[in-house]
Amino acid sequence: MFSLLRFKSLSLKIKSVLLRPINYTIIMRKNIVAGNWKMNKTFSEAEELTDQIVLEMEDKDLKCELVVCPPSPFLEMASDYAEESRLKVGAQNISEHESGAYTGEISAPMLDSIDIEYCIIGHSERRKYFNETDQQLATKVDLLLDYGIKPIFCVGEVLEERESNTHFDVVKKQLGNGLFHLNSDEFSNVVIAYEPVWAIGTGKTASPEQAQEMHAFIRKLILEKYGKETADEVSILYGGSCNPGNAKVLFSQADVDGGLIGGASLKANDFLAIASSFE
Ligand code: PEP
Repeated sequence: MFSLLRFKSLSLKIKSVLLRPINYTIIMRKNIVAGNWKMNKTFSEAEELTDQIVLEMEDKDLKCELVVCPPSPFLEMASDYAEESRLKVGAQNISEHESGAYTGEISAPMLDSIDIEYCIIGHSERRKYFNETDQQLATKVDLLLDYGIKPIFCVGEVLEERESNTHFDVVKKQLGNGLFHLNSDEFSNVVIAYEPVWAIGTGKTASPEQAQEMHAFIRKLILEKYGKETADEVSILYGGSCNPGNAKVLFSQADVDGGLIGGASLKANDFLAIASSFE
């Protein structure tokens, strides 16, 4: 568990023998690499991939928590693997309703009943193709937290917004509307994924400097809202064409605490190579 944490945030005051306080600032937050499988794989393929990931994990001293987010029909299978290993499982979405006549939807209590630990919320594909609004996303976040499931809350700008230099405003609004109604106890269970939409599935990755700049901005907003301790402890993942070739430099940025991985999470070797990229 301890090796998952980067020494980034914990302020310790230690008194010297002369009773003069010495301040050490050690920063601690969790590194996470999460795979978003989207709408890919059949049951047997999903089972094979999960099996390979779990096998490969066993031999590695990973410095991150590894999460797979398979399509909903495969969640229980993945959850069974998680019970016997260090693998964690996340869903890709939930309904904004707790139960009832919502054909085709899956709910937070359903995820809870099969021990799902995480759930992606507000992925740009859900915002774009399913017209999910900030208000719906805020409701989903609340439901997840009520059931003890950690949201991986996605934010990010489209290309025109970056080109018109409004990307900081866009991300600020997404965070404000989707998350900032939470109190700090609730917020401490949230993971944020910064995913510039122009980098998702395009092979175009944000530069390490662009990623760091936005992650630092997000952390500053959290600091202003919730204070330093909360800001130092929240994990902020980067997503958008992350692969074994660029993960190391992205993850070495001070405010990048791992990745939300799409395409490259569909191959166990690539996924594990990305997860092995922490210094
Ligand atoms: C994603 O969809 O969350 C994602 C990051 O996709 P990709 O890695 O394929 O760009």
